Amino acid sequence: MPTQAHHNGRKLVPLAAALLIALASQTALAEKHGHDMEQHGSHEHGVARLTIAATEDGLEIMLESPAANVFGFEHNAKSEAEHEVVHAALETLQDGAALFAINDAAACKLESANVESAIATRHDAEKHDEHDHDKAEKHDEHDHDKHAADKSTHSDVDATWAYHCAQPAAIDSVNVKLFSAFPQGFEEIDVEWVTASNAGKAELEQDGTVSLKP
Ligand SMILES: [Zn+2]
Repeated sequence: MPTQAHHNGRKLVPLAAALLIALASQTALAEKHGHDMEQHGSHEHGVARLTIAATEDGLEIMLESPAANVFGFEHNAKSEAEHEVVHAALETLQDGAALFAINDAAACKLESANVESAIATRHDAEKHDEHDHDKAEKHDEHDHDKHAADKSTHSDVDATWAYHCAQPAAIDSVNVKLFSAFPQGFEEIDVEWVTASNAGKAELEQDGTVSLKP
């Protein structure tokens, strides 16, 4: 509609698209290698990565987090209580409107939410052998640095929220509420953002607003 928005929409594509392609190929690689890839380099409990990228008609927000930050554990849910924890966390993650607030003038609406986690996809099915369970239980008792080498006990969550905005040119900030949504989970969120004309980084240690202006 407004020509300015349209103009911005076209200009931002190469930068945002390049970023999205990079992220997509990373995800594809992780999927291809399955569980062996669940420890990609920077898995540190409490820390997560958030990418905010302008699209032609809105915004895409991507979270890459250790599963422990949202579920409190990284093994497959074993008890009823753990299943409930997983379900509740997934519901919270699906509700992008509660997790992020884009400035009002942009008139954005959540279009889709996609949450991927090995825990989320396996938790209500398979039986696992007792050895795995024993291992997973010990996971929690040891200090994290020590078991960091134990790949089998780590797992990530990847979530993507897509917003459609009536005034994409007016997007200038995103309020992030992940800390209060998961009070036991996040200690630090490293944010990278990219718009039509700019890109930047921010580091959050509590709920806060990320400005998408230089
Ligand atoms: Zn872990």
